[in-house]
Amino acid sequence: MAPTHVLRCCQRGLAWIPVIFIALVVCWSYYAYVVELCIFTIPSNGEKIIYMIFFHLSFVMFVWSYWKTIFTMPANPSKEFCLPKAEKERYEKEERPENQQEILWRAATSLPLYTRTGGGAIRYCDRCQVIKPDRCHHCSACDMCVLKMDHHCPWVNNCVGFSNYKFFILFLAYSLVYCLFIAATVLQYFIKFWTLCRRKSAENCPKNELPDTQAKFHVLFLFFVAAMFCISILSLFSYHLWLVGKNRSTIEAFRAPVFRTGSDKNGFSLGFRKNIAQVFGDQKKYWLLPLFTSQGDGLTFPTRLVSADPEQGTVTLNAAPNNSAADISVSPLSDSQNRLLSNDQHANSVEDHMADGTFKPAESEAVTMMAENEAVTISMESES
Ligand SMILES: [Zn+2]
Ligand SMILES: [Zn+2]
Repeated sequence: MAPTHVLRCCQRGLAWIPVIFIALVVCWSYYAYVVELCIFTIPSNGEKIIYMIFFHLSFVMFVWSYWKTIFTMPANPSKEFCLPKAEKERYEKEERPENQQEILWRAATSLPLYTRTGGGAIRYCDRCQVIKPDRCHHCSACDMCVLKMDHHCPWVNNCVGFSNYKFFILFLAYSLVYCLFIAATVLQYFIKFWTLCRRKSAENCPKNELPDTQAKFHVLFLFFVAAMFCISILSLFSYHLWLVGKNRSTIEAFRAPVFRTGSDKNGFSLGFRKNIAQVFGDQKKYWLLPLFTSQGDGLTFPTRLVSADPEQGTVTLNAAPNNSAADISVSPLSDSQNRLLSNDQHANSVEDHMADGTFKPAESEAVTMMAENEAVTISMESES
């Protein structure tokens, strides 16, 4: 077995450590809550039953959404975005970047593309040998191009993107509900045990108080852990809700997508309600379930900027000055309609902007952000 292969296997194995850690914490929290708190500590049967029902509801939703986030494969660009065989061979043989770009421009004329590199060139991934659809980025951790890539999340050991962004948001929401429920219901027992702990011995404990068993350590620890996770998840969840409202991915929040008319961080924003529907779908009954209901195919996205582009006569916009959702009616370009890549533009752009569309692993830029306890590594190609 080649050493690089062994190294890659080790890396893949190690990448599961954060997921295993979370799984162990969740298993322990289940035991501590159900067995130590509900069965051994809570004296009232009515209280026990109510707590158990709501606990299991939030537990099931949390585990379900977490599972879906982890095991939903990231969506990749379709075959249409690969260069035809002859073109690919020409591209590989070509040494001059401007000639390579010309090959890409020719191939891209039939593709629905709005975005480009910072220099105005066609976005191409040399690693996957594919023209990148709008909002698609190469993830160096997964070693593939991921549609509407948001970030690579070590806590789920998966790329968060078009295929699982809704699941990720629900995972954050239900983990917050789970932790909040635990913290809120454990609080009174936490206070009782805390005061019990402060007494020198359990003999001083008045009658009908809680038993001085190992349950108290579980309950005390349970409250601390739940409260700690609550605080960290809340900040990340609020941030992603804000992103959904703006129809922006984490990568786009860091670096605005570049359109023909220039970079615009709100380029894909269709107004609050339509932005929500893009991720959660238009049927509200499915919003809270970790089932795939996101709109579109992940390859093309409606953009409000088509009205700003005089050569884009394909999409109807009742252009509202404030970009309000109500007045905008947009749809992704069809292949034949995409005039963004018409030949005259192509000639100018090839001359003006070159070489920056080619992906070089050495230039890839890893942005690591720590959002409380959530470490999110975003691997971004250098495009500018
Ligand atoms: Zn790629
Ligand atoms: Zn990834």
